[in-house]
Amino acid sequence: MIVAERKPFDEIKAMLAGYGKVFILGCDTCVSVCMAGGRKEVGLLASQLRMSFKKDGSDVVIDEDTVERQCNKEYMELVLNKLKDYQVVVSMACGAGAQLLADLTEPQQVLPGVNTRFIGMTPKDGNWVERCRACGDCVLGETAGICPITVCAKGILNGPCGGTDHGKCEVDKDKDCAWTLIHARLDKMGKLDNIKKIFPPRKHGVKTHPASQVHEVYKGE
Ligand code: SF4
Ligand code: SF4
Repeated sequence: MIVAERKPFDEIKAMLAGYGKVFILGCDTCVSVCMAGGRKEVGLLASQLRMSFKKDGSDVVIDEDTVERQCNKEYMELVLNKLKDYQVVVSMACGAGAQLLADLTEPQQVLPGVNTRFIGMTPKDGNWVERCRACGDCVLGETAGICPITVCAKGILNGPCGGTDHGKCEVDKDKDCAWTLIHARLDKMGKLDNIKKIFPPRKHGVKTHPASQVHEVYKGE
């Protein structure tokens, strides 16, 4: 999932200076799970803004809604009409959702309500950990299901580096060395020989930005 965190309230309020009619649009997928921009968070932000503007004596209209997936045009089409009446839309989705919103509502002003941080997993409730940098050339099958590009501070494919120290990373002593973790799991799997494998230099060319992908079924459309 994509992990994001809501921008500080003061930053959002400052971005809205000078606008009289504001719409806040949430997304009920990833950013809802990480409690940054789902229906609940949108409701909370809208209430906070209404109270704050009222306290300032300013008559700003704040309306809100949340779509199932802001990065998907099919869901966005359900709300586009009502957004036309507003001077500005605050997107509470990840950067991809916010950009689709900006594309679909051009030239309307779209503002980001969250900071998109990483692709991660949820090891326990309320905790998210980065686990994939979407490199486009996955090596997890060789590295015991632990991503060296993300988990290793240096992102090295042929580790460990010379700085690993009793299982900890030299860059951050509070973090486990990714290659020690990989070694330990390969050992448990009976595949320790994998550690001797030398990976060729990464194929940076497989991933240029912005990346795109079309499913076979849709090719030629
Ligand atoms: S190697 Fe790591 S960064 Fe690349 S796709 Fe696999 S998990 Fe993601
Ligand atoms: S100590 Fe381990 S995790 Fe840290 S940079 Fe070196 S190989 Fe990577």
